[in-house]
Amino acid sequence: MPRRRQVGRAAALALVALSLGALLQALAPPAASTFPARPALSALRVADPQQAHRDRAQPAPRMALVVPPGRPALRVPILMYHYIRVNPNPSDQLGFNLSVTPIDFASQMDWLARNGYHPVDFDQLRGYLLGSGRLPDRPVVLTFDDGYRDLYTTAYPILRAHHFKAVAYVVSGFVNSPVNVTADQVLEMDANGIQIGAHTVSHADLTKLSGANLWHEVFDSKIALEALVGHPVLDFCYPSGRFNDGVVRAVAAAGFATATTTQPGVVHSSSDRYLWTRVRVSGGEPLEQLIADLGPPEPAVLVTQPAPAPTPLHGPKTSPVSLPLLPPREALPATLPIEGAFP
Ligand SMILES: [Zn+2]
Repeated sequence: MPRRRQVGRAAALALVALSLGALLQALAPPAASTFPARPALSALRVADPQQAHRDRAQPAPRMALVVPPGRPALRVPILMYHYIRVNPNPSDQLGFNLSVTPIDFASQMDWLARNGYHPVDFDQLRGYLLGSGRLPDRPVVLTFDDGYRDLYTTAYPILRAHHFKAVAYVVSGFVNSPVNVTADQVLEMDANGIQIGAHTVSHADLTKLSGANLWHEVFDSKIALEALVGHPVLDFCYPSGRFNDGVVRAVAAAGFATATTTQPGVVHSSSDRYLWTRVRVSGGEPLEQLIADLGPPEPAVLVTQPAPAPTPLHGPKTSPVSLPLLPPREALPATLPIEGAFP
């Protein structure tokens, strides 16, 4: 072959190889974080303004880790908070133990967010145990006992900043007292991702009550809170974690679907739904302690799910973000011995 023809053929081959390389580069998935703005395959399409509109209207599905349906018991740590404040009286050891500082609380919420935890409320947990769906990866419930004023002034803004749901156990007879949340604050939080649970009328030790007095503390707190928020209140918390068989029966008979204690634990099921354990978060404890108390997460699986709605979780203060209420409690299997009418 003449030398000039050989050179020409080599040049042609090199051109093909270059073109192939360019094509392969165009088809390759984008390298993570190295070239964020590289045009994708869609750039090769003929420009179509209508298509761009359709793409925005129907976002592509995405992959997500979830706890799949059907597990009868699962690890969902229920964190227990009281005050979110700097304890005003250094000699008050009980007050100190119950007070997580705003800085510590914010760093705990930051850690949960950074590590893929998803705060859910009891509507979601009850719904999961009823078989109505799945839970997000690393579910956790954030509960606040007693309805102190700093729940609204301090914890609530930090929760909103993280787009976190939570549960507030409110003592119905304390609403509007100087150190507790007001009725308006309860309503605002209820409409913005803070589920309201009951914590009796006067924070009484229920194990010391019986008959009409016990019924008043349990049932009347439910009625008062439901009258305030305008929908069922299905979750209860025993004051100071004190309960006995009679107290549990009263809580179930009053129409509550769940109740939490102060006993430690992270695994919950429908059958122990009136004795759900919690993770106490004490004042001054290091972040490492909370991480250790959470333990390993509930195993999750990767699924395809629709892209999230374009509206942010926390829009204007008046737009509700909580999920619709779940089926009434009668749908839950009765596994606790609840006999006879009460009181
Ligand atoms: Zn309490």
